[in-house]
Amino acid sequence: MVYIITGGPASGKGTRSDILANALQIPHISTGDLLRGIAQTDKNIQEKLTRGELISDEIITKILEERLNKEDCEKGFVLDGYPRTLKQIDYLNQILEKLNKKIDRVIELVVPDELVYKRILERKKCIRCGRMYGIDFPSKIKNVCDKCGGKLEVRTDDTKETVKKRIDTYRENSKEILEYYRKKGLLKTVDASGHSERIIQEATEA
Ligand code: AMP
Repeated sequence: MVYIITGGPASGKGTRSDILANALQIPHISTGDLLRGIAQTDKNIQEKLTRGELISDEIITKILEERLNKEDCEKGFVLDGYPRTLKQIDYLNQILEKLNKKIDRVIELVVPDELVYKRILERKKCIRCGRMYGIDFPSKIKNVCDKCGGKLEVRTDDTKETVKKRIDTYRENSKEILEYYRKKGLLKTVDASGHSERIIQEATEA
């Protein structure tokens, strides 16, 4: 089972991927999360993330392949944030071939720009377990994670300037990627301005 969730910044990729991964009992692999983990000890990556720039295809692919080779991915995975370039499509095809897996569906989440800004500038992340909170799903206690009690903080790349750059980068890179999966009959485009559960239900309906 391989599901790819794609969409611009704050389209809800993380939350929706979590819901889908839980429902299918497979891990949610987010390249953004993998990179944010590495950025804690790697200044170069940290600077790129803060500027909203893409990490090189080779570096991110190496990081992803290592993660997908772990035992918990044997049954499959929900991939969030990759591929983001044409080259990454190729790399992903090579990785999947080695793992003897096929993509079941590529789900594109679409959200209007105004909502992206609103969501990004109001969202926070638990520094302990990584759970995200935002306008559609606030924490019960302000700045405290419902799940683990950790502190909630704004992501360093969630600023107005970076959002614009990330929206532009996504638009620029996504066209050909989406076209590639559309031609293969794998693409499902979903309006992601509403509630998570309904969106995933809609997206996974066969
Ligand atoms: P995300 O959490 O998916 O919004 O990703 C956050 C940031 O991580 C992006 O703005 C990029 O800088 C970087 N990133 C995540 N996935 C990739 C990828 N597949 N290729 C290059 N950079 C990536």
